[in-house]
Amino acid sequence: MGRWKHECDVALGAVREAAVLARTLRQQIGASAIRKADQSPVTVADFAVQALVAHRLARAFPDDPLVAEEDAAWLRSPEARPTFQSVVEALHRVEPDLSPDRVFEAIDRGSGAPGERFWTLDPVDGTKGFVRGDHYVVALALVVRGRVELGLMGCPQLSLMERRPGIVGSIVYAVRGQGAFCASMVEGKITRLAVSHVRAPRRARVLRSFEAEHIDQTTFDHVLRTLRVEGAPTLMDSQAKHAMVAAGRADLLIRLPAAEAYCEKIWDQAAGALVIEEAGGRVTDRHGKPLDFACGRTLARNVGIIASNGRLHEAVIDALRTRGVVSDPDPDASSGR
Ligand code: AMP
Ligand code: MG
Repeated sequence: MGRWKHECDVALGAVREAAVLARTLRQQIGASAIRKADQSPVTVADFAVQALVAHRLARAFPDDPLVAEEDAAWLRSPEARPTFQSVVEALHRVEPDLSPDRVFEAIDRGSGAPGERFWTLDPVDGTKGFVRGDHYVVALALVVRGRVELGLMGCPQLSLMERRPGIVGSIVYAVRGQGAFCASMVEGKITRLAVSHVRAPRRARVLRSFEAEHIDQTTFDHVLRTLRVEGAPTLMDSQAKHAMVAAGRADLLIRLPAAEAYCEKIWDQAAGALVIEEAGGRVTDRHGKPLDFACGRTLARNVGIIASNGRLHEAVIDALRTRGVVSDPDPDASSGR
């Protein structure tokens, strides 16, 4: 039996159910979103998915902390009553016995401290995509001693392996040392994922965030010009981009922050990074340094994300160097993988 077998089985069940719940809610509630204090959107689906996954993990691994994007502070306020009601109703379809108090409790489990072993969850990664009707992902990862051991993404808008028409959705996951895999959201067949073989930078199929304010467009354009990339980049929300690179459907993902001070949240990167690495690709920051998941809720020691099929990686870091974004050959850079 492989390492993390039980963890993987529980997490796969939770992510699959959560992805179905998110998709059902998207169909029902449409584009209605609430603004958080930082003006980012949150929906009934963000809270319902966090409650469901937190509840499932708590039942199987009661001692494991959960580090997740949402908390229930606002949901407890009188103005949030209708939203909370919708969250409870949505959950009752899959967990009929969950009382309102236990729903609050489950959501607040996401405020756990990142310790030696913990789970990290973005219930709806790419909420802006969810609201727009584009890509979003339920992203869950297990981090042990600062290393991602297990990464899972429920991708309702992404059909990676389907030959049939229409969007079926995919479950993409990886176990460290064991590979990256994909199953459709409706069928059980599991396929191993592998990155592409594209070596020529001009042929690179490049992905970036849909949201322009999430990226440094000038430096992004500089990299594409330097590499003489011929095709236009594809704009996608969420870690669905990582799934595309892992499946060999894209070759390169460039994420350079618009604001120098922006720190990536671990739940925005952990699952996607492991899936790409286990599919044979490489993920570093813009200096070529490995991502450091041992700094708490953010990747405080990394700036930007470069994820690739491996073959194109150094060309991107070199292009950033010519722009002065990478100050000099970094002593840690060669340990990127
Ligand atoms: P993406 O769809 O790839 O742009 O990634 C979505 C994630 O970007 C969200 O889950 C947010 O946590 C994160 N995000 C929010 N604001 C910013 C920002 N200003 N710069 C970079 N990422 C952000
Ligand atoms: Mg997110």
